[in-house]
Amino acid sequence: MHHLIIPNTQFHLISEKPSGVAWGRRGLAGLALLTLLAAPLCAQPDQAVQDAIYADALADPAGHAFLTRLCDDFGGRLTGSPANWSALERTVAELKTLGIEARLEKFKMPGWIREQDEVTLLAPLRRPLRAVAFSYTQPHAPFEADVVDLGEGREEDLAKLVSPQGKIGLLAPNTTVPRGQYEAAAVKHGLRGILWINRVAGGQLLARTGSFKGEPMQIPLYNITQEEGNWLLRLVQRGQIVRVRLHTRSHCEEIETANIVATFPGRTADTVVVGAHFDSWDLGQGAMDNGTGTAQVFALAKVLQTRAPRNERTIELVWFNGEEQGLWGSRVHAPTLRGRPVTAMINLDMVGFPLSVNSLGYDDLLPLLERYNTSLGEHKLKQGVGNINWFGSDHTPYQLEGIRAITFGGLIPPESVRYYHDLADTIDKVDPKLIPEATAAIAALVYRLANEPGLPTDRMAAADTEALFKKFALETRMRSVGLWPFAEPKP
Ligand SMILES: [Zn+2]
Repeated sequence: MHHLIIPNTQFHLISEKPSGVAWGRRGLAGLALLTLLAAPLCAQPDQAVQDAIYADALADPAGHAFLTRLCDDFGGRLTGSPANWSALERTVAELKTLGIEARLEKFKMPGWIREQDEVTLLAPLRRPLRAVAFSYTQPHAPFEADVVDLGEGREEDLAKLVSPQGKIGLLAPNTTVPRGQYEAAAVKHGLRGILWINRVAGGQLLARTGSFKGEPMQIPLYNITQEEGNWLLRLVQRGQIVRVRLHTRSHCEEIETANIVATFPGRTADTVVVGAHFDSWDLGQGAMDNGTGTAQVFALAKVLQTRAPRNERTIELVWFNGEEQGLWGSRVHAPTLRGRPVTAMINLDMVGFPLSVNSLGYDDLLPLLERYNTSLGEHKLKQGVGNINWFGSDHTPYQLEGIRAITFGGLIPPESVRYYHDLADTIDKVDPKLIPEATAAIAALVYRLANEPGLPTDRMAAADTEALFKKFALETRMRSVGLWPFAEPKP
């Protein structure tokens, strides 16, 4: 159950239309006639309201201030960690002070608890290496082993090794081989661990999930810095003995976590979903990934509450948990919408200064997004409307439910975004203007989506969704992470 406090201040700006009408369902002549007859009465997005929403969001520092508190008070928000729980509770409490009732929707998932892991260089000299375990790496008794060069981790790279059994492999930074494949090849050749050299220089680390399926890793897998990794690689390639000791204490454990959901009921059941993942890696503060999205949804909630709490359609805001380890929160929330008409899901994952809006291959959203961009006037998005489907964040589980989804293209400067998943993803990387500028563009779109008449709310047919992923060559990657619900190819 949830309760919403909804001041009706904007009510006079938007005229009523009968609720319960299956608005936008295409191909029904009777309904089309009803729509036509109702047209003079039905709601339209009010440009003045939209402009006020935009101006308020742009002028409001509250989203950035919220993100600063979230980052500095709790640090990284690894799903299931005490820091993540405390940050969830703080967010619900801060929403409440804005008059917004949000609820925690709890769920269980395969979790992973990071402990004091140790990667130590033993030869040619002794020193601790800077390293971070992939999630779902399992604990093991400490062991030491010589290091070998795995190249890019292909079967043919491993087949070249003279005696890889019991060794620890160094994996090239630029490998394009999927994690599951190089892990399987390493296990097959008897390796006991993998050290993957970071792609980004400067002593940085890349935290990452080892398994979208939440399956325990067969052997320990670590990311190490580019500088230390290349040092070891040069020694190995010169024929020197390089010896490393691994001790993993981190462990897998089923955990309970929660999404935060806040609903602004509309005059119809038609729903617009806006989501952002709340969780982050634990090395830094998760400020960019995805504190930005977390704060944008927070700031969106605030401006909606003030300027447009009640719209034609229902607006459902969701902060997801478990995204980094395998889109767990969105995989739980998306099916809860079954039986409800949904206009679109907007996913906000690391949206910087807004440059474009992306219809993810849903051609029938393009006219709406073009109207939206035009309506921004002097704030029009520089790169306009894109139409490219992509995989790797929380919109996918909604797409798999047949729901149209939208993302934004935004700029986070390269000198900041380089710290993605590193210790330095901290609040100082987020320009205080970023959250307000992005929220203004996002809120204007949400308002339009919630009030434009005639938008489709029907689910896409499974065959069309499948074709949409295939068109953008996403099938292999989705299969490799176990997120391909469509039929296996015919042999
Ligand atoms: Zn992210």
